[in-house]
Formats: sequence, C-alpha cells, structure tokens
Amino acid sequence: MSPFLLKKLRPHTRLLKAGNAPAYRGGKAVNPPVVRASTVLFESVEELDAMRAHRNDERLFTYGARGNPTAFALEDVVSDIEGGFRTRLFPTGLAAIAMVFTTYLKPGDHVLIADCVYQPVRHFAETFMKKFGIEVTFFCADGSDIVEKARPETRMLYVECPGSLVYELCDMRALATLAAANNWLLVADNTWGSGLQYQPLALGADVSVIAATKYLSGHSDVMMGTVTTNEKAWRPLAEMSDACGMTVSPDDAYLVLRGIRTLAARLALHEQHALKIAQWLLGRAEVARVFCPALPDHPGHAIWQRDCQGTNGLVSFEFSRADRSAAARFVNQLTLFGIGASWGGYESLATISDLKSARTVTDWSEAGTIVRLHIGMEDPEDLIEDLAQAFAVVG
Ligand SMILES: *Cc1c(COP(=O)(O)O)cnc(C)c1O
Repeated sequence: MSPFLLKKLRPHTRLLKAGNAPAYRGGKAVNPPVVRASTVLFESVEELDAMRAHRNDERLFTYGARGNPTAFALEDVVSDIEGGFRTRLFPTGLAAIAMVFTTYLKPGDHVLIADCVYQPVRHFAETFMKKFGIEVTFFCADGSDIVEKARPETRMLYVECPGSLVYELCDMRALATLAAANNWLLVADNTWGSGLQYQPLALGADVSVIAATKYLSGHSDVMMGTVTTNEKAWRPLAEMSDACGMTVSPDDAYLVLRGIRTLAARLALHEQHALKIAQWLLGRAEVARVFCPALPDHPGHAIWQRDCQGTNGLVSFEFSRADRSAAARFVNQLTLFGIGASWGGYESLATISDLKSARTVTDWSEAGTIVRLHIGMEDPEDLIEDLAQAFAVVG
C-alpha cells in the first residue's frame, strides 16, 4: 500500500496494512529464507482462478497446505541429489512411507516388502494395510525369493537397501528389471544412502524415500521425510499428498535446507570414523561379528562396492555372549554414546536391536545380541577408549 493511501487510514487499520511490502534494495540471502504463510494473496479473482487451474501441473504458491517457497527450495535440492523428477516433503520419514503405500496401493492389491525394512513399516503393514485389504508378503532381503512369492495381484516391490540394523544389500538393478517386466512399482527406502552414498532411482527404482530426520538434517533437532519419484510415478503422489493436506512447516524445511548444505562433509567424517571403529571392533574378543557393508566379509560387500559411493556412520556388532543383559550393561557403561532412537546427527549413539523380532523371513534365532552404533563426529580415539572401558567393565 502506498504511503499516501496508508496515511488516510486510522491507527488500527494502519497497524495491519503497514509494512506488508517493505521497499529495499540489495542482494539476496545465501540460503532461501523462511517464508511462513497459510493464506497467499493474489491481485485479482482472475489471477487466483488461473493459479488454481494450473496448480496440479505447475508448482504454484497458492495456499500453505500445498507447500511454501522454503519447502520448494528443499524439494529441489533433494530431487537433484536423488536424481529424480520431483520431490514431496512429509512431517516424518514414516509419514512419507505411509503416503507411498496409500498412494500406489488399493484394496485387493498385494505388496512384497523386504525382510530388512525399518521396523515401523511392519507395524503399518499389520495395522493400516491389513485393515484396508492390502495383502503383504515379506521377502528375503537379497531378493532371492521374490519370484516365488509374487502373485497376479502384486503391484509393488518395497525394498530398503542397505537394510536396517545389519545392512543387507539387494541388486537394485536386477530388481528393477524384474519389476518392469511384471509392471510392479519399485520403491526404495534410501535413508541409509541419503542421496549421496546410494541412488536407487539411477539404478531403476521408481520411488525413493529418505528419512530427512537422519543425515539430511544432521543435527537431531527436526523430523522430516522426503519422497522423490521418476516422472511416471509423480502425478499420483502429488495428487494424494494434496488430497491429504500433506506439507511441512517452512521452519522445519529451513532447518533441513541448512543441514543438507554440509551433507557431503558430514558423511565423509562419519564414514572415516565408522571405518576406524569397525576395524577396531573386528579385533575384539567380545565381538562375534561386525556389520558394515564396507567390510570385505559383509555378505553384500560386492554389491556395495559396485552400487554405493561410500558408507555412513552406522556400524552394528554381535556380542559373543548371548545374554541381552551383558549388552545392556555395555551400552549403559558408555559415556560418549547417547542411548536413543534414530541416527544421522553429529553425535554418537548406541542401541540394542532385536533381530529375532525385526526379521521374519531370515532366521536370527541363533544370533547373539546386536548393538547398533551410530558413529558421530567426536574424535574416534575418544570413542575407542570409551568402548574399551565399557567392554572391560562388562568383562
Ligand atoms: C528413521 C527411519 C525412517 C523413519 O524416519 P522418521 O523420520 O524417524 O519417521 C524410515 N526408514 C529408515 C530406514 C529409517 O532409519
């Protein structure tokens, strides 16, 4: 509003109208700023109508529930590193996964899900999908039993590579060929690779999901999920997200946008430190097995070497002693490792995993207790000293 018009108004009205379009000259901020909005204003009814007519095809800022410019900026970064057509953002990684299942599956359909998936995916399958008449079959994480488990109603192959907890790998390119031949949608959870260490879309997947809560944000202070698709799979996702009113706050988008700028540097440190810790663990009598796909004796190492650009901060190990209480005492004894869910922040974490309940196709009944470490950016020598003193106390 012009200063001339403003001056003619009373104080209560001026309070609302002043400062709505500040005039200034200068450059622009490095990182796209937070743009907070629910209502978005237009010059005329005709302009609003025109925007609404095109907003399913073009990315238009028309209402806060359909995204905001800060979120759009983050979507573009994720689309770029994932090598996809476009990206949508969701309030959590799990919400992103749930939206993928509800977008592409309907009652009567059958979905094949990898045995190594993030555990809450099983919960979603048992609750939501069962209730809505979607049949689920879990398959071996390496994909070897997919053909025998497929049905005429199969519509989707849902994989996680490398898998949660012990990092099983599958041959994404081979699965993509199989999926294309059968007209199945191939969906991959790419949280482990986070766009830099692994790119499922480049290997033929149709949809890639990342829990941005982990490495993309990198600071353990924000929740978010991303779904990136190829061009063919885009429209159904965009329509279902809009139908459900899915969006993220610009403040959260800003935090992830800020975090993602240092993703390469952080991952390089996580990898370097994790490899050091993994090597050290291999030499310990208390450790039966170390799980990290970058280690030559990992079952998926050859695929990792061919398809991945590196590893991350995740290293799991199996205690030689079977009792869970020894592993619990070990974790409790650590002073530099936090005890808590999630990973991907700058800090080291330790949790105990129960593979006997996290896997239903592969038999882990003989395995000892698994401790999952997330190796952070602390000096790895300090972490090694901490691990050593905890082993010494447990005995
Ligand atoms: C953490 C995680 C998720 C879920 O992300 P949230 O943001 O915690 O909901 C999904 N997949 C994998 C592999 C994860 O590690």
